[in-house]
Amino acid sequence: MLPERLTRLVHLFARLPGVGEKTAARFVLFLVAAGPETSTALGEALVALRDAVRPCDRCGHVAEVGADGHAVCAICADPKRDARLMCVVGRVQDLVAIERSGAMRGRYFVLGRLLSPLEGVGPDELPLARLRERIAADGVEEVVVATPPSVDGEATALLLARELARAGLRVSRIASGVPHGGDLEFADPITLGRALEGRKGLG
Ligand SMILES: [Zn+2]
Repeated sequence: MLPERLTRLVHLFARLPGVGEKTAARFVLFLVAAGPETSTALGEALVALRDAVRPCDRCGHVAEVGADGHAVCAICADPKRDARLMCVVGRVQDLVAIERSGAMRGRYFVLGRLLSPLEGVGPDELPLARLRERIAADGVEEVVVATPPSVDGEATALLLARELARAGLRVSRIASGVPHGGDLEFADPITLGRALEGRKGLG
């Protein structure tokens, strides 16, 4: 129904989370109707995403690459953040959700993946060495584990508790309130804020 080039773009948009073929086709037809300026701006923003954005060198949050070639996110660069407190999350989306709750005054560390015995993801595949390095460099005293309340999230929390308690750190886990199997990304900010404030010691 659409020219080949547009169909290809529809398929690309349809790969985005929450976007089906119908919505994707609406996006494409909107862009055609909106004229060249919108498409150019979108295209340039996407190229910049590829070239100028990468995970923060310190925490793994998304960051812009600076003139010095380093990428440090706004949270790591903020001197008002409490360096002694670190919140460990599975994904950037979870960091964003917690940040929105306003309850975290420390910094973060993004694991990028969770321990998953069923899918064959073992402890060696988690960035534990980088996490320990970060903890030592920042003088972290307390680690709050905010992995999701799923089987993999709980397994990851137990592993972190064991690994980090050995180093004499206080390790806590966000309190329940986030439903089991739930996604932190979709928890409301008030529930997430309470879950952080009501964190419990682990190990
Ligand atoms: Zn950072």
